[in-house]
Amino acid sequence: MKSILMGDNWKTMNTPSHQTALVTGASKGIGKAIAADLARQGIFVFVNYRSDKKAAQTMVDDIHSRNGRAAKIRFDVTIQAQCDDAVKHIIEQCGHLDILVNNAGTRDDHLFAMMKKSSWEKVMETHLTGFYHLTRPVVRQMLRQKGGRIINISSTAGQTGNAGQVNYSAAKAGIIGATRALAREIGSRNITVNAVAPGFIETGMTEGLNRDNILQNIPAGRLGKPEEVAAVVSFLCSSRAAYVNGQVIGVNGGMM
Ligand code: NAP
Repeated sequence: MKSILMGDNWKTMNTPSHQTALVTGASKGIGKAIAADLARQGIFVFVNYRSDKKAAQTMVDDIHSRNGRAAKIRFDVTIQAQCDDAVKHIIEQCGHLDILVNNAGTRDDHLFAMMKKSSWEKVMETHLTGFYHLTRPVVRQMLRQKGGRIINISSTAGQTGNAGQVNYSAAKAGIIGATRALAREIGSRNITVNAVAPGFIETGMTEGLNRDNILQNIPAGRLGKPEEVAAVVSFLCSSRAAYVNGQVIGVNGGMM
């Protein structure tokens, strides 16, 4: 299947001497806050989305209005060919890709006894197989360019397990294992691989959840903001975090 890349004047906006980042699922929620934070630092950000073109365009327009640089790029992380094409096009346009944030995610909650295989597969394919599809071509590029930063968005669910989310918890725990293993594999090549594990954050994903039950377990007494996750991701992308590798940083209001 052919990938669909939305150029947005890449050629005129592209400045190869600057850092380039790809943030998956950046049309909304946590990914949007991460993309905005990176763009504020002068990094050219590729704003990935899957279905919500309008939200992605609004995001790119917002970055441009603040004199930042960004382009939207549509691909589905569950489709290998689209991930390959996306990385290829970014390298053709910019020559390098310095930062990858694997943020795209979904949930499909059911009690395990009732969970259909399709719910299991949907969540695994988005989080874990999606990680494989996109990170592998990016790692090959980062090895060639001798440097890079990879940040994987996991979840407290992957650390403690959440009842009703066996699929999601398993996928997010898998991301932590993949992060630690990959960090050991390529840590000597000037590439760091870290995970950020948010607790409950105010996004579309947590809409409709029972707030009273959730708040009982959060010492901070509130849900987190996407910007609070983005701040940690930005730190991990910065030169100040050069010696942080293979770590899982919680952003959870003390829930764990
Ligand atoms: P969200 O608001 O629902 O946004 C999800 C994003 O992922 C959207 O931009 C969506 O794009 C994109 N996406 C979904 N499936 C995709 C696919 N197959 N390919 C490419 N993009 C895809 O979610 P969020 O709360 O910001 O979550 C972001 C990440 O943080 C996820 O990995 C989630 O598991 C994790 N997380 C969230 C929380 C929380 O409390 N919110 C807690 C811990 C971890 P389209 O809308 O364009 O389809």
